[in-house]
Amino acid sequence: MKNINFVITLLFFQVGLLSLTAQNQTNYWQQHVDYTMEVAMDVENYQYSGTQKLVYTNNSPESLNRVFYHLYFNAFQPGSEMDIRLQHIADPDDRMTTTEKASRIASLTESEMGYLHVTALTQDGAKVTFNEEGTVLVVDLAKPIPSGGKTTFEMSFNGQVPLQIRRSGRNSSEGVALSMSQWYPKLAEYDFEGWHADPYIAREFHGVWGDFDVKLTLDKTYTVGGTGYLQNPQEIGHGYEVPGSKVKKQKGKTLTWHFKAPMVHDFMWAADPEYLHDTLQVENGPMLHFLYKNNPSIIENWKKLQPKTAAAMQFFNKNVGPYPYEQYSVIHGGDGGMEYAMSTLITGERKFGSLVGVMAHEMAHSWFQHVLATNEAKHEWMDEGFTSFISNLCMNEIMDQNKDNPFLNSYKGYFNLALSGKEQPQTTHADRYALNYAYGISAYSKGSVFLAQLGYLIGQDKLMETLRKYYADFKFKHPVPNDIKRTAEKVSGMELDWYLTDWTQTTNTIDYGIKEVVADAETTKITLERIGLMPMPQDVLVVYNDDTQETFYAPLRMMRGEKENPYGQIKRTVLPDWPWAYPTYEFKINKPLSSIKAIVLDPSQLMADVNKENNVWQAQE
Ligand SMILES: [Zn+2]
Repeated sequence: MKNINFVITLLFFQVGLLSLTAQNQTNYWQQHVDYTMEVAMDVENYQYSGTQKLVYTNNSPESLNRVFYHLYFNAFQPGSEMDIRLQHIADPDDRMTTTEKASRIASLTESEMGYLHVTALTQDGAKVTFNEEGTVLVVDLAKPIPSGGKTTFEMSFNGQVPLQIRRSGRNSSEGVALSMSQWYPKLAEYDFEGWHADPYIAREFHGVWGDFDVKLTLDKTYTVGGTGYLQNPQEIGHGYEVPGSKVKKQKGKTLTWHFKAPMVHDFMWAADPEYLHDTLQVENGPMLHFLYKNNPSIIENWKKLQPKTAAAMQFFNKNVGPYPYEQYSVIHGGDGGMEYAMSTLITGERKFGSLVGVMAHEMAHSWFQHVLATNEAKHEWMDEGFTSFISNLCMNEIMDQNKDNPFLNSYKGYFNLALSGKEQPQTTHADRYALNYAYGISAYSKGSVFLAQLGYLIGQDKLMETLRKYYADFKFKHPVPNDIKRTAEKVSGMELDWYLTDWTQTTNTIDYGIKEVVADAETTKITLERIGLMPMPQDVLVVYNDDTQETFYAPLRMMRGEKENPYGQIKRTVLPDWPWAYPTYEFKINKPLSSIKAIVLDPSQLMADVNKENNVWQAQE
């Protein structure tokens, strides 16, 4: 018996060791935060102060002896990195400059600028050393946080809300008093790549997942909306109370709003004394909240927006995956449109189509940013691009646009950039593009084309299946480029490493053409050519004089797979693979040249071929 026990113990020991090794190699981990904040806002001078208790769990395999906080509001000061960058970039953001193209940050006075300062900070009761470096607070810990350990930071902070320059701020151009995003000392994310304590220069964000408990005290005439479920609606009212119920009257000039938000990586709020507040319950979905200025010229649009918002929610639920929170708020504020946890801030004085468009885009970010929390500074194309892709599809359906190719503008933008000589690879950090133009097209348009073109490679059904699996597998995590590629590979059974590499890490372009079409007795010989460096499989449509059609498919050898016939009603012939290095490729059609009217490469136009002129061959009249 003894011997057998020994063998069993040994076996268990070995199994234990094996699983440990496997964990170190493959196991995903992420840090965790639990914030408790109490903040008081003075709506006269826009100054606020508060306390923050942060319980930080170090799930990384390393011990940490430093942490970093973002102090975003310090960007809105003359001489900040954001200000200097604005003064030196060739195409500054219009919202941030005067009509003479001067930095609006440079001219902010003491009482107009933003700031956020930490005045006291302890770790488990012991003082720590901390130093403000622009928009980042560097903290040398009193004692290291071991792998798997927890520590509690407690701080006091005070801030001033800047005049609205970019995203957040006071007194927006449309008169919203407080757009409070990136307003609190926010712990920087530490992940498998190390710290991401990026200075706030332009864009964008990456945060730690966790639970928020926030109490906001401000003038009782203000209505507040944002991230989180209100815990004390019967004390607050303002449209949050149970309909028809009585609200407990509070003494004094202020109200304290208590919000809780589970598993988010950001916390935004907005407030205005003139907000109207409507709600709409989505069937089998969350409660929608709409907060918008009581401005007669916008009210009708904001009422019509509400059923469209419910329709968009249902579209994304069906096509990507279920929205995991019980609430979503569309809030008038900010300087355009920006996504936040369980909410968005959008400008509201828009034409109806534009209002629905910005809502659909920002709401789509609930999936592609606030649940699939990609590092936006490093992988901007996965954030803005995927959002643009799915919101274009959504708009096509909920606004009955019926476009054949809802991504046409994304393709046009990409072609424009690719041929401009200004393109930088999508791996560029979002702050390090030479031009805002190059960032915008690369992130939004080329990022959207990444998915639309993936549909060309693996087929539309497999593309949508990929998105749903990607969401199911990576929700509440920080997915990276390899994750979407591996998901598409698993769904399609094809090899796509070349696609991720060429499209996102280089500026290689796609250019295929029809080189020659010649008669060969009663058959026709077609020669295709690859001119650009980037590989692609080829769909070839042949139209005959009697208007019958057939297609030929030349798979790319390195994909090791073939998509299903995308034109099911048209006969397709699968040709031998085209190995990339061969600049030309020949195949034969068993019909005479005289019977052919036209030949077209990629009739779907989902392949981002930068030169379409050589994609069509037509018979001479
Ligand atoms: Zn966006």
